[in-house]
Amino acid sequence: MSFNERLQQINWDESRLSIMSKTTADVERALSRQRLSLDDFQALISPAAEPFLERLAQRSMQLTRQRFGHTMQMYIPLYLSNLCANICSYCGFSIHNKIRRTTLSSEQLSAEIAAIKRMGFDHVLIVTGESEHRVGMAYFRQVLPLLKQAFSHISMEVQPLDQHEYEELIELGVDAVLVYQETYNPITYAKHHLKGKKQDFHYRIHTTDRLGAAGIHKIGIGALIGLEDWRTDCYHVAVHLDYLQRTYWKTKYSISFPRLRPCAGEFQPKSIMTDRQLVQLICAYRLFNPDVELSLSTRESAHFRNNVLPLGITSLSAGSSTQPGGYAEESQQALEQFEISDERSPAVMANVIKQKGFEVVWKDWDRSLSGL
Ligand code: SF4
Repeated sequence: MSFNERLQQINWDESRLSIMSKTTADVERALSRQRLSLDDFQALISPAAEPFLERLAQRSMQLTRQRFGHTMQMYIPLYLSNLCANICSYCGFSIHNKIRRTTLSSEQLSAEIAAIKRMGFDHVLIVTGESEHRVGMAYFRQVLPLLKQAFSHISMEVQPLDQHEYEELIELGVDAVLVYQETYNPITYAKHHLKGKKQDFHYRIHTTDRLGAAGIHKIGIGALIGLEDWRTDCYHVAVHLDYLQRTYWKTKYSISFPRLRPCAGEFQPKSIMTDRQLVQLICAYRLFNPDVELSLSTRESAHFRNNVLPLGITSLSAGSSTQPGGYAEESQQALEQFEISDERSPAVMANVIKQKGFEVVWKDWDRSLSGL
């Protein structure tokens, strides 16, 4: 069974109703379990669990330290291109936004790599818009050898590809692929994806099956919080994780929980998730799955990141620029995908992490450990 088929078994409205009708007793039961079911997860993200935040946080911290120790992985996004052939209502790179478009040349990429290395990173997340023809496999074949020479770990957040293309990317040194469904509600998805290949909800949702079949080391999933009711969307993320771990059990998984940020186009979110609710969600994911990596980006404020990082997070970005060429060039031009919130440098962030008693880990995985 593919995840597309698994998704057919879930009814959006019934899931929402089930989450919203959870009781204090359901939350207590979920908190007392060693292994949580999807129904328990619903209880932990429900309104009924909001008064239990302190207990959730304590348990989440304890499980995270047991599994991951006092370590915090650091990564940095490297935007290779802001070309995009799609219209997504919430994104600054959307083709209808009048911003200057650019794709890094080999020389510009070398300058970006040098700037990132100076900051201390050995784990890079390469990001592009979705422009199959201009920033597709031919471009990746050109840039990955350069990146591979410089970094021990390469994650990728680019347009969904076919299985044979993922197999080639793994050969070229890609360790992890992140692909967010944005929203698992097909009707809402259709409202926000108005042009381009990303309109195909089913091809996108099938991406993780292609990645799993290709044998990738790690897959990142998530929902873009704000497009839909966050509880129901994030419940679908948990179902997705559950399916993937059962089906592609050799692969590692990570979850991100990006809240919508201001960008070109001035999109307004449908639902607002408060800081307390985001903490509740992070802790619920940890209790549901002690092994999953939980990643927090610079979309969130410095204050929030400082407070939440010991509770369940395992990896953080820092010093991020969301515009291509943003590390080597001091550009004021509007090329960025969205505004970041935490603008602290990697060195400052590393100090904060150390002061909280964590060891800063600058790379996730070394290929030599896989014997490749
Ligand atoms: S979200 Fe991705 S696909 Fe959509 S416009 Fe932005 S870069 Fe393009």
